[in-house]
Amino acid sequence: PFTTTLPDTAGLAERATAALEACGAARLPDDGGAPGRARTPITGEELFRLDFGTAKTTEQAVTAADEAFRRVWRDTPAPVRGQLVRRLGELLREHKQDLADLVTIEAGKIRSEAAGEVQEMIDVCDFAVGLSRQLYGRTMPSERPGHRLMETWHPLGVVGVITAFNFPVAVWSWNTAIALVCGNTVVWKPSDTTPLTALACDALLRRAAADTGAPEGLHRVVLGGREVGEHLVDDPRVALVSATGSVAMGRAVGPRVSARLGRCLLELGGNNAAVVAPSADLDLVVRGSVFAAAGTAGQRCTSLRRLIVHEDVAEEVTERLAGAYRQLRERIGDPFDDGTLVGPLISERGHGAMQDALDRARAEGGTVVTGGGRVGEDAAPGAYYVEPALVRMPGQTPVVEEETFAPILYVMTYRTFEEAVELHNGVPQGLSSALFTRDQAEAERFVSAAGSDCGIVNVNIGTSGAEIGGAFGGEKETGGGRESGSDSWKAYMRRATNTVNYGGGLPLAQGVEFL
Ligand code: NAD
Repeated sequence: PFTTTLPDTAGLAERATAALEACGAARLPDDGGAPGRARTPITGEELFRLDFGTAKTTEQAVTAADEAFRRVWRDTPAPVRGQLVRRLGELLREHKQDLADLVTIEAGKIRSEAAGEVQEMIDVCDFAVGLSRQLYGRTMPSERPGHRLMETWHPLGVVGVITAFNFPVAVWSWNTAIALVCGNTVVWKPSDTTPLTALACDALLRRAAADTGAPEGLHRVVLGGREVGEHLVDDPRVALVSATGSVAMGRAVGPRVSARLGRCLLELGGNNAAVVAPSADLDLVVRGSVFAAAGTAGQRCTSLRRLIVHEDVAEEVTERLAGAYRQLRERIGDPFDDGTLVGPLISERGHGAMQDALDRARAEGGTVVTGGGRVGEDAAPGAYYVEPALVRMPGQTPVVEEETFAPILYVMTYRTFEEAVELHNGVPQGLSSALFTRDQAEAERFVSAAGSDCGIVNVNIGTSGAEIGGAFGGEKETGGGRESGSDSWKAYMRRATNTVNYGGGLPLAQGVEFL
């Protein structure tokens, strides 16, 4: 079943052009770079050709950002830097619909999720503006008379931001809004599948810089794939590489940055689970799980992939989920259609990975309860729309331990709470987790040191849909980085410990005597 008609690619290209023009990014790069293109997963076809970056343009981008940092930005008072981000937030509000359109066209997100992603950008700008007056250092009592001991926080320099296709604008804004108020400048390499959203964001930030008198060079976009990313990763002037994407990308990027003793902030793949206790409110479980597992067509780093259900309620939970999944079947299609809940997968590769995983799950003893098939191939042979899959597994078999970036939810059972936590933590990734329960002691155990080993630990809500006020990121193969709220800003600054002697004498610490 495919309930919507798809827009044609020419119409989508027109819509993208209008959004780009409104944001002030009418001209696509055609400056003799590497051949590139913009594409839409809605029809699976090409929108435009445009030039991607090269080693040379990346080098130039870092030079511009480095100069803007040294000449102006690091010495600009942080609250003044905040005014730039305040202006960016205003422009994002003004162009929310334009950016959301581009997100839908390039990443295939349904309208409310695309608008939500832009809202997240606005929210993090607000947060960063407040932060620009709160980059606090501590003052500690010195053990020496007439001395002051304190710490100050300074910007790092150029921050290289590498982002994934599935949050093409929000992840940029988490990094950039915070990096800018901290006094850094930014060079951004977006996913090669989402160049247009990046050009629109860059144009808005340029306007914000012009409106507030900030240096033009403080932000650059370099388009392209892995190779362009590598140039950024290897440039010693890039003080921090903040990279979001797959574990495979992190394994490549981490050691390269470490080899030059640079700083790295890694936000990598997840394999997120929810535990459903026998006392859980099953209405919450079903609603929370369906959104977390099938929303964004299962293409969120925090998507729910594993459901660990107590054996007493497993039958009922699976049945109710299957019912909800059957309703979803009627809501797959054009992400611009208001009735659609599940848009396309990003590419043929995403679809291939899903089919492989389902084949392996069957071979490992699993049963596909519902979904998994491709739909709409007649309407758009190059696009990949799928029915979200619900799969009963006999246990946590090898395929379940991997992140497959598609809407597959594996359901397993447990008997004791200890067993549930063990299954939950028994995968290499550690991003997001959830427990549905009405038992307070169980909830406390889950969020305690002996409970979930993830960076995000929820009770009675699903695994996806984090707010910007908290620190976002995960443990183990997810890479350990934290972005966005709380004190994540510290990753974008360097700490100096200062001892100031105002006493006239020269007492040494630890009572040491010398000359
Ligand atoms: P990907 O790893 O294919 O690409 C991510 C980015 O890294 C792209 O810009 C890509 O061009 C670049 N890249 C890849 N290899 C590189 C290299 N060797 N050197 C430099 N740059 C390189 O990921 P994707 O398919 O775009 O996104 C999906 C993945 O991202 C999933 O695994 C998902 O869980 C993860 N993700 C994680 C988070 C998080 O915050 N933890 C957020 C969003 C997505």
